[in-house]
Amino acid sequence: MENYKHILLAVDFYEQGDLVANKAKAIAVKYQAKLSIVHVVDNLPVMDTNYGIDIPFNMDLTTELMAGSKKRLTHLAEKLAVPTERTWLEMGSPKTEIVRVAQENDVDLIVLGSHGRHGLALLLGSTANSVLHYATCDVLAVRLRDE
Ligand code: AMP
Repeated sequence: MENYKHILLAVDFYEQGDLVANKAKAIAVKYQAKLSIVHVVDNLPVMDTNYGIDIPFNMDLTTELMAGSKKRLTHLAEKLAVPTERTWLEMGSPKTEIVRVAQENDVDLIVLGSHGRHGLALLLGSTANSVLHYATCDVLAVRLRDE
């Protein structure tokens, strides 16, 4: 099996996220690899609502989302002993940003959950599927079971 050197954990702060985070940490320890974390704030907050209505882009809401995400990311990084310079808080499309951060930082393994917030919205394809398709490195989708 390949000796991974840089592992990227993609988190959406959804239920069962700890399972994915713990697995990424365990693999990093096992391979003595660097561990980084990425979270992407969707630039269309309407996607988070599931109301199916069109909410115009709202700068205050976006700033609030970024601030909340930063806090959670910092907390998780402390828990996993990941230094701040290896945490990425991005805005945009999660699938695109996860792959970009991985490529720009010589990541050789991306760890994510088999599904998350958008797990049931399979019409457009899930984040996990898309990252698997476009990443140029290995991808581990940690199996998450529905309650
Ligand atoms: P999904 O395919 O969207 O249901 O999500 C599958 C997995 O992709 C999640 O368990 C996370 O590990 C990752 N993921 C989803 N959305 C994001 C996001 N906004 N930022 C970082 N990782 C994400």
